[in-house]
Amino acid sequence: MIKVCKFGGTSMADGITMLRVRKIIESDAARRYIVVSAPGKRFSGDVKVTDLLYETYENVSLRGETGEAFDNICERFRGIVAELGLNMDIDGLLERTRREILEEATPDFCASRGEYLSACVMAQLLDVPFIDARDVVKFGADGRLDGERTYALLACALKGKKRAVVAGFYGEDVNGKVKTFSRGGSDVSGAIVARAAGAGLYENWTDVSGFLACDPRIVDNPLPIRAISYKELRELSYMGANVLHSESIFPVREADIPIRIKNTFRPEDEGTEIVPTSRYTYSGKRVTGIAGKKDFTVIFLEKSLMNAEIGFTYRVLEVFLKYGISFEHIPTGIDTMSFVIDASELKNGVLDEVCEQIRTTVHPDSLRVIHDIALIAVVGHGMARSVGTSARLFEAIARAGVNVRMIDQGSSELNIIVGVDNDSYERTIKAVYEEFFD
Ligand code: ASP
Repeated sequence: MIKVCKFGGTSMADGITMLRVRKIIESDAARRYIVVSAPGKRFSGDVKVTDLLYETYENVSLRGETGEAFDNICERFRGIVAELGLNMDIDGLLERTRREILEEATPDFCASRGEYLSACVMAQLLDVPFIDARDVVKFGADGRLDGERTYALLACALKGKKRAVVAGFYGEDVNGKVKTFSRGGSDVSGAIVARAAGAGLYENWTDVSGFLACDPRIVDNPLPIRAISYKELRELSYMGANVLHSESIFPVREADIPIRIKNTFRPEDEGTEIVPTSRYTYSGKRVTGIAGKKDFTVIFLEKSLMNAEIGFTYRVLEVFLKYGISFEHIPTGIDTMSFVIDASELKNGVLDEVCEQIRTTVHPDSLRVIHDIALIAVVGHGMARSVGTSARLFEAIARAGVNVRMIDQGSSELNIIVGVDNDSYERTIKAVYEEFFD
């Protein structure tokens, strides 16, 4: 079996952590293709190399020079190479990079150089070939990954290589210019390499031991999630549980490749395995995880005989479309309907205009706006199998003295979403965690 391993910024932060990475790779012959991020933070308050590179771009566009930010990057890479005792011409590489940045001064090109340089160093440390993502990861004219070309080029580049290091985060667009994924995008690169290599496992090495059942800032030491399906992960990440870039699921999901989140600093920890939904086996747990977000606004509409008025929802949605507002949920009753919207969508007085338009378009009996609502998603395939999950959930919330403002259950029974006041957010998460995990 081939394993593709992606190491994030904290795993690449300095020479000591890179030696850990080498040990991890060399301890398993299946760990053949390595994707790396740029060096991240070494301590809280430190600056990531990628952020220094965006600053370098600003310097070049304002003053025509790479400035102090790039000098700091050079110092970091010189330090890493010295710590590792590598015999490589890092000064030459950094000088060439400086010249290329001045020539191809786009934000994406500048930002990509962190991954480029760290992959060069890692390839040297492992004494294996370096693959420039520019040659193998291709974007189409629509700005999206050109999967067909990318997988073919990558498969060809990897063929016959026992091991190789690929730079994460970037590729090349149709005009031959470097283009990056969005921030954190080395996760996506890792998934693409896993797919192209026909890997049996995509290991994503980071600085936490996988997903936790809920936010550790709210509950002390929540239990780790050992296994989670792609669908459950999608629900939890959407609601704020962020360990993995959300787009990194797609390339591997299509090829049925599981992802395992591992901790570079505690490699013995099992981590979390993200499995294709088709291969998911019921663990006996009703709830897999709990996640949530604050600051939603609810527009509540009431109108007698709403259920018989054909096109009611359509006309309200047309108003949202006109203002370019995306909504999260529409819980409905017979004569009531609520639109749950992220408050950041309704800035600069747009809310008043939207409400006015809704009033003149569908003439509701009443329209109310409720601010400062938090949404909490309780997620798990196990909920569909067991009677009484929602009874337990709402009893636990009631015991905590929290008033439920909204309920929405997806038809797949994979999640129940509960709306509460922002102020009750933490209390609700604690109560739900205690009910299902303690
Ligand atoms: N270095 C990039 C970032 O900081 C990409 C990554 O690390 O995945 O966003």
